Amino acid sequence: MEEGLRRRYLEVMGIQQWVPRTPCVEAPLAAKAVPVPRQADAPGDRVPDWETLSRQVETCTRCAELASSRTRTVFGVGDRQAPWLFIGEAPGAEEDRRGEPFVGRAGKLLDSMLAALGLARGEGVYIANILKCRPPGNRDPKPEEADACRAFLDGQVALIRPRVIVALGRIAAQNLLATDAALGALRGQPLNYQGIPVVVTYHPAYLLRKPLDKRKAWDDLCLARRLMTRAADQIGTPHRSSSP
Ligand code: URA
Repeated sequence: MEEGLRRRYLEVMGIQQWVPRTPCVEAPLAAKAVPVPRQADAPGDRVPDWETLSRQVETCTRCAELASSRTRTVFGVGDRQAPWLFIGEAPGAEEDRRGEPFVGRAGKLLDSMLAALGLARGEGVYIANILKCRPPGNRDPKPEEADACRAFLDGQVALIRPRVIVALGRIAAQNLLATDAALGALRGQPLNYQGIPVVVTYHPAYLLRKPLDKRKAWDDLCLARRLMTRAADQIGTPHRSSSP
């Protein structure tokens, strides 16, 4: 079938495609110092184990509005020793129903982005959100909600000890990095969270509305992959993603 027609069929069926037209260019990393990744460190004594952390999330009532309106909490999903950690904003309606992050349309696009990196949900990747509860009406998370949920995300980061974090969208990036900087100012460079390299890119829901920016998102993913390669080389273990 002709490629354009095939794409239109897939679009009509609601199947999001992520087809990188250009391979990642192996450009040198920016001169800015990128910290040594933390995968080799052990979590500190005060970090709860997975079971405790997930129970704390499940029973959390710190944000009264969110606790009373949620169907269920959305803890996170994936490989608990993943070198890759993708962080989104907050669950939407579908995620709230199913208890898993990124399972709606944006999630399908995220899966395609992962596939373009040679990754698959649950294999070498963990997916979490800044908030573990759905904000009613899909409003933005309030700063006090992000603060209240912070310990859960930090617990996940400490337990996973990823080598690279990808922050999906402005809200995820600003909350993770505690900054008011615009997305445009955060993209395109290795940033740092607790010694872990961070790459900021567009949220998949934004890319569904602005598909032309997928090209720039691909550049971000290529940067993340270079950081991963470098981290794996430093530690001397494979980095579990193919070379698109
Ligand atoms: N958007 C997010 O940021 N997270 C989800 O889990 C779903 C949509």
